[in-house]
Amino acid sequence: MSAERLCLDDSVQQLAGVGPRLTEKLARLGLSTIRDVVYHLPLRYQDRTQVTPLSRARLKMEVVVEATIHANQLQYGKRRSLLVRVSDDTGMLSLRFFYFNREQQLRLAVGRRIRCFGEIRRGPQSIEMVHPEVRFLDDPSAAAMDSALTPIYPSTEGLHQLSLRKLVVQALDVLRLDGDDAQHIDALIRTHDQTKHDLPALEHALNYVHRPPFGAPLEPLWQGIHPAQQRLAIEELLAHQLSLRRLRQTTRQQRAPKFASPGELRPKLKAALGFTLTRAQQRVITEIDRDLARAQPMLRLLQGDVGAGKTAVAAMIAARVLAAHYQVALMAPTELLAEQHARTFTRWFAPNEIEVLSLTGRLTAAAKRKLHARLATAEPFIVVGTHALFQADVRFGRLGLIVVDEQHRFGVDQRLALLEKGTNGGVRPHQLIMTATPIPRTLAMTAYADLDVSVLDELPPKRRPVTTTVIPESRRDEIVARINEACTHGRQAYWVCPLIDESEVLDHQAATDTAVELSAALPRLRIGLVHGRLKELAKAEVMQRFVAGELDLLVATTVIEVGVDVPNANLMIIENSERLGLAQLHQLRGRVGRGEAQSACVLLYKSPLSETARHRLHTMRETNDGFVIAERDLELRGPGEVLGTRQTGLAAFKIADLSRDRHLLPVVRSLADAVLSSSPELGDRLIGRWLVHKVDYAKV
Ligand code: ADP
Ligand code: MG
Repeated sequence: MSAERLCLDDSVQQLAGVGPRLTEKLARLGLSTIRDVVYHLPLRYQDRTQVTPLSRARLKMEVVVEATIHANQLQYGKRRSLLVRVSDDTGMLSLRFFYFNREQQLRLAVGRRIRCFGEIRRGPQSIEMVHPEVRFLDDPSAAAMDSALTPIYPSTEGLHQLSLRKLVVQALDVLRLDGDDAQHIDALIRTHDQTKHDLPALEHALNYVHRPPFGAPLEPLWQGIHPAQQRLAIEELLAHQLSLRRLRQTTRQQRAPKFASPGELRPKLKAALGFTLTRAQQRVITEIDRDLARAQPMLRLLQGDVGAGKTAVAAMIAARVLAAHYQVALMAPTELLAEQHARTFTRWFAPNEIEVLSLTGRLTAAAKRKLHARLATAEPFIVVGTHALFQADVRFGRLGLIVVDEQHRFGVDQRLALLEKGTNGGVRPHQLIMTATPIPRTLAMTAYADLDVSVLDELPPKRRPVTTTVIPESRRDEIVARINEACTHGRQAYWVCPLIDESEVLDHQAATDTAVELSAALPRLRIGLVHGRLKELAKAEVMQRFVAGELDLLVATTVIEVGVDVPNANLMIIENSERLGLAQLHQLRGRVGRGEAQSACVLLYKSPLSETARHRLHTMRETNDGFVIAERDLELRGPGEVLGTRQTGLAAFKIADLSRDRHLLPVVRSLADAVLSSSPELGDRLIGRWLVHKVDYAKV
């Protein structure tokens, strides 16, 4: 079959060498058309074209080095290994082998010159390669170097890189003849790229990233900042942006109940709160009210740092909806938090004759059936629960508002599924998503382009910033004394034991051991323990006692991370804090500093600290500001991690990287405006081409 007759829309089966088995493997990678192959971009490159001096080899790079062996020894650690030390004129490298025989060991003799290829890793003394490919330079058959960089593609079991490379070459031939309508978008990018990145045309960019020419610089390609990659990144970000904006448009075209009046319930609720709303809370409520007064579903993200008072905002919004005789569902990420919200809302709403229902894991089957029947009626109520609220067998009779708490881990798909859930006769509920993970503005505008965003940027009055200290494990005794001091003065404290290993068993073990140990050291204190393995009922009971002040010290795993609110607790100890990420540390610390007393957070760590861990702990000591912490987190971990892995599909970007490519976002936004206003069909094609995420618009 000749390339002339093919176009990008044709099936991969049209390419030479693609039979049913290969087709099936390609399908697993989401590759069904020739176009899909063209946009299947390399993850990284191997450089087998040149020898890299050791001084220039960076961690994680895959490089060829030429060096002389000067030591060869067996090591007996956790695992026996063969360690071969080599050096060139510029630096040292260790080669480590776990599998080797006597003959291989002898061949790697001191004094021999070798060429090896492998990934550079960090070793105990110097950089290392584990199981490199080794060639001996005194062997005349040592192969010549490659003439171009080798692209490495995302692949699947049984699919060889070489087959992918062959397919890409054919697909690029088809692209050359088909063109894929690139002129239009190329021209748009040229006009909108004010910063003059001087980006190549699409076809050139695709050819370049798939087959970097001889002499192509590895460094920028490695970092993803080569103009060819940036050209593709712009387009991918644009496609993503367009799909979210379209989602937003679609949502806006739907019908929702209109809540034009604040209703008679609000003033009563205000009185029941026991505090005056901050200005920020009032402003945010006004913003949300404007959405509710429209007959289109609200999709709004409420960002507010831990302790900013998002729950009270949710209650005020709920009051408006309830007053109009509609139902409100509040979804929390954990049972613990759902229970707490149920208690808070009961305290606020029960005096006003609004029923607060709670759908938790500990309901019996019969109780659950009964509750489900209530939900399906048209009575107004608030129902609080975990994601169990939105399981298949739950139907709402008259749902007006869904509040999702602390769900920064929620992606587009889930947002849609929720909207779908409450739909009744074509009318959809409003949706308010609350998050304590402050997201840097540019990122928020990209990741949540389908949402409106409100920011609660003021803490309730009289709060004092938490004082944070970073202390080595070895000074544990001092901390125990400090807890004793605080608790004998009527205060309460948390002691958090994070995952020691990736195993739940050990997790609960560590917390249990710590509780036993602390009970022995602090015999006069009342100590409680919560961890993920306790039954819901037992967990809730312990929490309840801590809330009621019947426990002085709560030993916990990170189950208490989100949302737990006990203002009298003003001391937080976090063990093994070096193992936690910034966002999680900030969340945990947010459990204290909720009352008027000065609060303290002690971060205990085990030495030695890694570079990033040191950085994280330093940041925690330096600031209480969630936005500053989020920015740092973004630098340290990258956006995929910051936003959570299951979110919008950002983690699945093929080439773009939100933190690296942040400078492109303004261009992307103005391009999105241009495409939407001048050529929506181009938008469709871009979305199709990049498969940003597979939202089923038909269902919306
Ligand atoms: P978050 O935003 O982290 O969910 P919460 O809603 O749990 O914060 O509120 C934290 C604490 O602050 C709660 O004890 C709450 O009752 C209290 N609070 C909320 N708003 C105010 C306010 N305007 N004035 C005083 N206290 C408030
Ligand atoms: Mg909260």
